Amino acid sequence: MRRSKTMEGPVAAAAATTTVMCTVIAIDHSNQLWYRACSLCERTLPESPNSICKFCSHYNIGTLSSFKRLFRVLVSIATDKEVRNVVCFDRAARVLFGCSADEFFDFAKFHPFSALDADKILEGEMFRMTLSKPKSGNAQHLRVASVVPLRSGFQPAIESLRKLYGVRASS
Ligand SMILES: [Zn+2]
Repeated sequence: MRRSKTMEGPVAAAAATTTVMCTVIAIDHSNQLWYRACSLCERTLPESPNSICKFCSHYNIGTLSSFKRLFRVLVSIATDKEVRNVVCFDRAARVLFGCSADEFFDFAKFHPFSALDADKILEGEMFRMTLSKPKSGNAQHLRVASVVPLRSGFQPAIESLRKLYGVRASS
């Protein structure tokens, strides 16, 4: 019997997701943890302050200086087999951070070490992550499709940060 070339090998492998138990080694806080996106369609916007969404501006001329931030966080994880970098987009990153990227941005304005401390807080936490191949061919990292904390007392970074800075402020 001939094997079908379309259903096996690289094609099938590329579509696969894998679920791993892993420990967070580091959050890449040297890069910005978010990107600017159109608040209507969520397409990525350039970083320049007055950029507008080319897609939406066809329909809403003049109304689109509005944008929001969405998380895009590079995370190093260790599984029982390997250490690798994966990228958390907004939905997965919200599990780690416990807030939206805009809320984190506003918090970090008053607490400039928030990203650094979030890295320290999340370091060593264990998660079950489902990893998927990026849809765009030139993306280099697996993306985190879903993330579930394994420690029963897990608190997202923003909770720990509020406590951390609350204690500092009152002492
Ligand atoms: Zn748009």
